Amino acid sequence: MNPANISRREFIVAAAALAAAPLLGAPAIARAASPFVLPPLPYGDAALEPVISARTIGFHYGKHHQGYLNNLNKLVAGTEMAEMSLEKIILATAGSPEKAGLFNNAAQVWNHTFYWDSMKPNCGGKPSGALAEKIDADFGGYDAMRKELAAAAGGQFGSGWAWLVVDGGKLKVVKSGNAENPLSRGMKPLLTIDVWEHAYYLDYQNRRGDYVNAVLDKLINWDFAAENLAKG
Ligand code: MN
Repeated sequence: MNPANISRREFIVAAAALAAAPLLGAPAIARAASPFVLPPLPYGDAALEPVISARTIGFHYGKHHQGYLNNLNKLVAGTEMAEMSLEKIILATAGSPEKAGLFNNAAQVWNHTFYWDSMKPNCGGKPSGALAEKIDADFGGYDAMRKELAAAAGGQFGSGWAWLVVDGGKLKVVKSGNAENPLSRGMKPLLTIDVWEHAYYLDYQNRRGDYVNAVLDKLINWDFAAENLAKG
């Protein structure tokens, strides 16, 4: 693995393995996935202003994301899940009522890391290259895709997420409630927008649509979506 190209999800596993290795005296690569650690934010707390305030990022990353991570580490400690990657925990617990706590916390850890990477200062607007061509082919153009994504984000009743995914080789927009994510539906996520109130309430109060439009027009990270599209 080239460290320069390490993904944020791989960072979670690698950092935990490195932290555990000296203690257990075995090759880092063989170590358990947990305890999980939060990858650093890909930008400073204030970097997404004025669309998303430093105060929102401080609570969202520092309290909500960290809170899911702390819960997850408590829940997997001493269980077979302590040996599993985040993705494997999500797939192993999805749809299982007795494992809802594990699923919710594992998925929320994954979803938030994916969300931070789905935004970047001074981005937004239209993508280019292969992703733009695929959007044209599967949606009939950027405007139609953007309309669908904004509608999914605005129309998710209560807490949840809006996603651009690949499903069966085609781009699609889907939404999910609470911690649900497209991995457990066999889809490949390209990007996401968090529409839990904690993502926007300090800055936008009830105006979720204003938050979604601002993210789409000024922050959405098409490079990240294109990287995910290119992955096998
Ligand atoms: Mn959130």
